[in-house]
Order: sequence, then structure tokens, then C-alpha cells
Amino acid sequence: MPNKTDIHLFEKRHHLPPFSDFKNLKEEGTRIITHAEGHTIFDSDGNAILDAMAGLWCVNVGYGRDELVNAATKQMHKLPYYNSFFKTSNEPVARLSAKLASIAPEHLNHVIYANSGSEANDTIIRLVRHYWALKGQPEKRVIIGREYGYHGSTIMAASMGGMKAMHEQSANEADFEHIRPPYGFLYQGNQTDAQFAETSAKLLRDKIIEVGADKIAAFIAEPVQGAGGVIIPPDGYFKHIQKICTEFDILFIADEVITGFGRTGNWFASQTMNLTPDLVTLAKGLTSGYVPMSAVLVSDKIASHLIEEGGEFYHGFTYSGHPVSAAVALANIELIETEGLIEHVRDITAPYLASAIKQLDSHPLVGQTRSFGLLACVELVRHKSGPVLFDPVGAVGTKCRDHAINNGLMVRAVRDGMILSPPLSFQVQDIDITIYKLKQALDATYAEIGNG
Ligand SMILES: *Cc1c(COP(=O)(O)O)cnc(C)c1O
Repeated sequence: MPNKTDIHLFEKRHHLPPFSDFKNLKEEGTRIITHAEGHTIFDSDGNAILDAMAGLWCVNVGYGRDELVNAATKQMHKLPYYNSFFKTSNEPVARLSAKLASIAPEHLNHVIYANSGSEANDTIIRLVRHYWALKGQPEKRVIIGREYGYHGSTIMAASMGGMKAMHEQSANEADFEHIRPPYGFLYQGNQTDAQFAETSAKLLRDKIIEVGADKIAAFIAEPVQGAGGVIIPPDGYFKHIQKICTEFDILFIADEVITGFGRTGNWFASQTMNLTPDLVTLAKGLTSGYVPMSAVLVSDKIASHLIEEGGEFYHGFTYSGHPVSAAVALANIELIETEGLIEHVRDITAPYLASAIKQLDSHPLVGQTRSFGLLACVELVRHKSGPVLFDPVGAVGTKCRDHAINNGLMVRAVRDGMILSPPLSFQVQDIDITIYKLKQALDATYAEIGNG
């Protein structure tokens, strides 16, 4: 058995982890997470850390759930793998498809599987083009996304997203356009919410007119932008957006990789926000992260056209519709149902978080707090009035995050925003601890840097 020091050495010598500055990482080393239970992760130095990020926005039912472990074990014994390529499928996938159709908005009754959110979004890109080609409009190819949008890390998904740094390292610029998101903290100014919803949505109309509706296949948006910094749209934004999509005959894609499976107090944010997307991306909370799986929900309108027209859709992965992942997803959904986690979020913890986070408003470093369901952000600023942001952006957020982690609270920093996305099984006491520890991290940061 390798001991603790060996593990750090193996890591340092041989592992290049995602989204890392390798030079910096090799100097500072990585934290090895050894095990987890409930809402707490443990590292190899013996630290216990409350996981207010649910892993990476995904461990919705918390850690150590036997129901999911047993579902995987049972399925591995029965049928660990078989492909779904050549007119074959498996029982868990058939059941999961029916289950997803039953919990999704009414018009979404068809499912295509993949293994990650990125792959699901790549699937969507190919699918919408296939759809328009079958409709006799193959020139409708461009997809409009939003700045700060995150749709994954494959080249196509990252191109569709709006993360500048990712575009700079490699992007397909010909096929994607981006508009400014309704990021109130930066852009709302003196506008009322209703005005801001309208002016933000109008950017889509302007972009469509600029590019030409006959070239545009779809618009994609996360109902709440996650990795972009928990950007919550003002009421009415998506109503305007959907009207514009309908007017110009452009498909509307909701990327619910984070907002799906209860995080906003319904199965999907499409229900919370009254959206009728043509396609929905699912991943993360689908299996609570226990095994990889993603899915695309396809509307009746699109599916029936594909089925009527025929013609092979040349797309799929070796592990599309993996039986073990499907079995875990089913157990996960069942657990969310039997424990009433969605009602728990809707009626108890989401309102509690919304009011608890306001305690931080008066802190000298805090420019804004906001939450939607069990997603929250605390924006740090140099001066409250303005507000004046830190320059460079991100250094103070990272400092504050490190204080939080060292104090036993796992949060994430996006630019200078502190992000929360706790498991749905979080109790109000867990929220109290989270806010208390976050306040301590803010204090420690303020003691260190003052106002920059
Ligand atoms: C995480 C995420 C993705 C990408 O999922 P991966 O499984 O990392 O490929 C896509 N969309 C959204 C909204 C996400 O948060």
C-alpha cells in the first residue's frame, strides 16, 4: 500500500489535473480528498471540510448514499456494459428515459445519452444542425450563446460557451456568436428589473438581425449561469428571449446541467421559470456525480420531425446509455423523491439561504449577495459605492476562498465572487455554519488586505 507521502509524490510527478496552472500546482501541491460522508469531505492531512459546493455542483444527494452504491453494484453484476449502437439497449436506460420524460416539462419526452455535459452539448450542436438540414435549411448553423456562459470543455462546447480564456486557447469562432448576459451586478445600473430584462433580451434580437435569422440554428442559455458566477436573470428575461426565438424561428436550448434535479426547487429550472425549451442539457445532478452520465432532453416537436424524416443521426459514444450509470441515475431520482428533497429546497432551505446570505451585505468587502434556489454568490468589491471592483480581478476572491477552505468550508471563487451550491440535503444548520464560516473568511481577507 502506498503511504500518504507516496500519494503526494505520485500526484506531483505524474498527474496533470484539469483547469490548473501546472507550474503553480507543482509548487503548491494538491489536496488529496480521501473520503466523504454526508456533506463533509476529508483530506489526507486529516481536515474535515463542509462541502458547500456539492463537489462541482453535482453531489445533490450528499456523499455515502448506499442506495446509489447498491444500485451500481447490482447492475454491475447483472450487466456491467453493453452498447446501444446497433438496435440494442438495456433495461435501466429504458426505465430512466421514461422516468426523465415523466419529471420533465410536458413537451420533453425523448432522451439522448452521453457521459458529460460537454458531450451532451456537442450532441445538441450536431442534432440542431441535423434538424435544420432535414427541414431543408442546412444554412441554419450558428448558435448564439452568452458571455460568461459555460457549456463544457470540448472545443465545440467551449466555443458555444462564453469563457474568453478558453476561446483564446482554442475555439471554433465561425459557428458561434455571443451576447451579454443579464448580469445585474455589472450592467443593470439604474434600470428597473423589468427594463433590464427587456434591454438584455433585446441584445439577442439585435444579434439575430446582425447575423441573419436564416443562418441561426439556436440560442443556448443556462437558466442561472453557474460557472460564470451564479448570474441570475431578472424576472421576465426569458419570456422576452423565448418570444424572440419564436419570432425568428430559432431553437431554444436550456443548459440545465447545474439547475436540473432540484437545485431551484423544482425538478428543472424550466419549471421554476416557466420555460419551454426545445432541448435541455442534463448532467451533474443526474447521477449526483456518483458515476458519469449526461443526457439531452428532446422536445416532441424535434423528435417527431427526426422520426418522420428518417436518415441516420451519425452520433454516439461507446458509453452512451451506460447501464450502470442509468441504474445509479434511477436510484438517485428515486432518493430525491422519497426524501422529498425538492420540496425541502423549495419550502425550507432556498428561502432560508436567501435570507441568511443577506447577513453578509453589510460586510465592508461585499458589493452584492444573491441567490436562486440553492445557488448563491457573494460579490467582493474594493469599494461598496460604484461598486468598485478589485484590480486585477480574481486575486482577492481566491484569497477569500483559501481562507474558507482552511477554515473547513469548501466554496468556489469565480472572479471575485464566492460561490455556493450545496447538496440539496443540506439542512438549515448547515447553511448557518456555511454563512458563519464564510463571514470568518471575509473577515480574514479584510484583515489581510483592507479594501485592496
Ligand atoms: C459543468 C457544466 C457543463 C459541462 O459538463 P462536463 O460534465 O464537465 O462536461 C455544461 N454546462 C453547464 C451549465 C455546466 O455547469
